[in-house]
Amino acid sequence: IRRLSYAEMRGPSVTLDGQRVGLHINAGLLVELSHLEQTGADGVGLFRTEFQFMVADTLPRLDAQAAVYGSVLDAANGKPVVFRTLDLGGDKVAPFAPSMVEPNPALGWRAIRMGLDRPGLLRYQLRALIQAAAGRPLHVMFPMISAPWEMRAARAMLERELQHAEHNRHPLPSEVKIGLMLETPGIAWAIEHVIDAVDFVSVGANDLMQYFFAADRQNARVSDRYDVLSPAALGLFRQIRNACAKHDVPVSVCGEIASKPLEAAVLIGLGYRSLSMAAANLGPIKKLISGLDADKLGTWLASRMDSPADSLRPLLLNAGAEAGL
Ligand code: PEP
Ligand code: MG
Repeated sequence: IRRLSYAEMRGPSVTLDGQRVGLHINAGLLVELSHLEQTGADGVGLFRTEFQFMVADTLPRLDAQAAVYGSVLDAANGKPVVFRTLDLGGDKVAPFAPSMVEPNPALGWRAIRMGLDRPGLLRYQLRALIQAAAGRPLHVMFPMISAPWEMRAARAMLERELQHAEHNRHPLPSEVKIGLMLETPGIAWAIEHVIDAVDFVSVGANDLMQYFFAADRQNARVSDRYDVLSPAALGLFRQIRNACAKHDVPVSVCGEIASKPLEAAVLIGLGYRSLSMAAANLGPIKKLISGLDADKLGTWLASRMDSPADSLRPLLLNAGAEAGL
């Protein structure tokens, strides 16, 4: 891996063959926004809004929500921030929410399912986001979408809130981009039927892989049992990327795999040009990318995607320069 100068470390991320790769940070707390400047990241690819709710004893009021979102946008200083709407339930519990006993919480009433069934909660959050982003761009994405109708219903709710703000003569965001967080195999297979309703896609690979392999991401006995570098999983990532490219819809990956060297390289080889990760991993990934021949890796991968191997990992580790690594 080539050494990068200090200026290069803070500059844009570019592969050896000149491909620009957008690198963004995942965040959930205002204090984390300082990492944008420190890492030279292009923006916040995932802002987990539920953190504010998980540390509160009572439901945060609209103004309190808007204050946090406004401060996040101020701190981002013009760099784009993708706000993910509430992703409660499953592994994320808010103290004020009634404790629910579900046989399979990860497969239960969570995230957008809760947001659509209890529209008051989601509607107020969207109102707070619109208020906070007055006069500046707003990027919102919806988690755990499993079927096209959920995306359409969530989009309609946001559009209604924009109309509500306009009707009340509140200042509007300068532009609004609405994203689908792709975390379930169901929506991956239905992407062609929903892509017209989205401005961008962000692959939540932690959950996507959990559901793809039916392996609990929080259970160490099974979470490492399957390899995301298996031809099957890579086929899914390729299909998602190609569907988005066909429709000219920007696509990014924001799960943990974006921050792991070999996995990040493979995603770039499959054509992804935007990754979002914990800030601490951004420097090492940028360095890795600077030594990567994306075109060569893409060709290498294409000829191995039908391999009967459980994982391409050993092949990749042995391939080195031949695979563009
Ligand atoms: C994911 O599922 O990949 C993701 C980024 O969201 P979270 O880890 O918050 O579920
Ligand atoms: Mg998730």
